[in-house]
Amino acid sequence: MSAYDLHTHTIHSDGTLTPAELVARAHANGVKVLALTDHDVTDGLTEARAAAGALGMRFIPGVEISVTWERQTLHVVGLNIDPNDAILQQGLSRLRESRMQRAQEIGAKLQKKNIADAFVYTRALAGGRVVSRTHFARFLVMQGYVTSMAQAFKDYLGRGRVAHVSGQWARLDEAVAWIRSAVGIAVIAHPARYRLTSGKMRRLLDEFRACGGGAIEVATASQPASETEHLSRLATNFGLMVSAGSDYHGPEKPWVDLGKLPVLAPGLIPVWSTLGAN
Ligand code: AMP
Ligand code: MN
Ligand code: MN
Ligand code: MN
Repeated sequence: MSAYDLHTHTIHSDGTLTPAELVARAHANGVKVLALTDHDVTDGLTEARAAAGALGMRFIPGVEISVTWERQTLHVVGLNIDPNDAILQQGLSRLRESRMQRAQEIGAKLQKKNIADAFVYTRALAGGRVVSRTHFARFLVMQGYVTSMAQAFKDYLGRGRVAHVSGQWARLDEAVAWIRSAVGIAVIAHPARYRLTSGKMRRLLDEFRACGGGAIEVATASQPASETEHLSRLATNFGLMVSAGSDYHGPEKPWVDLGKLPVLAPGLIPVWSTLGAN
């Protein structure tokens, strides 16, 4: 178990625990430094900070920003952000409007497949908070259209599937600028998940560094050691710091847990070393 977990979610986006429940579980798992990084929203940070403080844990306020880069969706985590920054909050609220628009479009596509009222149900499932594809997947499972979350993405919601809608997210440089306006560190989340060619990965890291990006997430849940090593080499070559986060969404995926992460090789510069948190 790692003492650091800098990528997690709660009910404020597509996780299933409340911020206080997340913090309690992280504490029980031996995490000492925790970041909450909900998708495009910072509403859980106040509760999480208070809960972490009560347990003597170091809390790092964060966010995971949706980005469109070269017609593909990427995620950029912002760590140690000031959630009161107006530029960051304006950007995030624009993304949440895009999410609502996209949700209506997903609902319309599902309607064409004779799946009625998906938008209304899914919005209700999200309880007035951020609406994500995860909520659509839960709706499809609950109504018996599919038998698992994975199947919901495979049959309907994933890239290239019948109810996929790309979404209009932030540009890479915008997301980094919002994070830097909020005096945070920008981190490319789970880089291996985008399946970029090595040339495209280098282009991404070049652009990211040029616009002020700070780190790449080299350790994420259930990642083979070879991938962690590969990403660590890229971080070194591009002069970027490294981060580690489980991308925990809740106990429904028992193979992912808070603090359950690959070990980082020596010689890398972890983001927490610049946050006075090591
Ligand atoms: P969104 O940001 O609304 O497009 O939703 C993306 C979220 O869906 C990710 O953050 C994951 O939590 C979840 N997700 C993406 N692909 C899958 C999958 N194949 N199975 C389960 N969850 C997924
Ligand atoms: Mn998610
Ligand atoms: Mn992500
Ligand atoms: Mn995430």
